[in-house]
Amino acid sequence: MRAIHTYPVFDVHVHFTPDRAQAMAEIMKANNLCGVANLGVLERRGIPFDEAMRAFRDVLGERAVYFPSPDFRDIAPGFGERMAQELERKVDGGARGLKIFKDLGLRHKDADGNLITVDDVRLDPLWAKAGELGVPVLIHVADPVAFFKPLNEANERWDELQLHPDWHFGAPGFPDHDTLLAQRNRAIERHPGTTFIGAHLGNYPEDLTYVDRCLDRYPNFYVDTSARVGEVGHHPAEEARAFFLKHQDRILFGTDLVLGAVDETRTEPNVERITHTYDLHWPYFETDEQQLEYPGYPVQGRWKVDGIDLPDDVLEKLYVGNARRLIPGLQV
Ligand SMILES: [Zn+2]
Repeated sequence: MRAIHTYPVFDVHVHFTPDRAQAMAEIMKANNLCGVANLGVLERRGIPFDEAMRAFRDVLGERAVYFPSPDFRDIAPGFGERMAQELERKVDGGARGLKIFKDLGLRHKDADGNLITVDDVRLDPLWAKAGELGVPVLIHVADPVAFFKPLNEANERWDELQLHPDWHFGAPGFPDHDTLLAQRNRAIERHPGTTFIGAHLGNYPEDLTYVDRCLDRYPNFYVDTSARVGEVGHHPAEEARAFFLKHQDRILFGTDLVLGAVDETRTEPNVERITHTYDLHWPYFETDEQQLEYPGYPVQGRWKVDGIDLPDDVLEKLYVGNARRLIPGLQV
């Protein structure tokens, strides 16, 4: 499939371990990527930070930036302050953002055994510190709406949930989708000096009107496109196009590429397969072709998508311009 754009592309949402830095370099070359933001893998896998940062830099130089994630195993009083200090230490050591995984709101509990909500005031020092340091928070809250719905064949993500039963949050004990997003919005609202990038179209691509309202309401809120072309493309192309045009300064290109032992539930793809996945993105954003397969098709839903044919200046912002603006010192 053709790559149509002439811009280099920055992928704001990838996960790879240091032993996959070389593979990442090959993928970047094969797909004309000028840079990537690597999110939260070190803390998740218990890989020592300083050593890993050296390994990333040795292979990828300035082309890969790293966003650490906080340690939610430390829940003794003052955990938010300690997370803030840890972020500062890591930004000093070269990190350029903060990554929050979806476990916040769904799984992380405090010392009393209660779920820590996304808007828990004990986390305020962390959000404030990110703002003070000028680094963005790439935050994944909730998941596709279907993951919170009853698990049966009527569920739109039935195929995907068969493969990943642990992605289902429709059982008792989990907050619902909208409650989680409301928590996130309150944290964003309380920290207007901190930039938040909502992963996966702010995790409500099923309802673009909702995301539109959030972007209108919170000037410090941005979204990435990772792993959601299928959901965005489920809307009529004119609607999706209008959304991308209106919010052209607020949307960043991302894929959610996973390389290495980041998440045991996924199998490791090869360069060819990954290139195929990148290639599925371009015609959606860049052409008006109809009935395209999307990245993840058909596992994320048995429909096809119609291209939204964005103009060149909007593509440039989506692919790299907005990332350059939000990530400090980005040299791509
Ligand atoms: Zn991800």
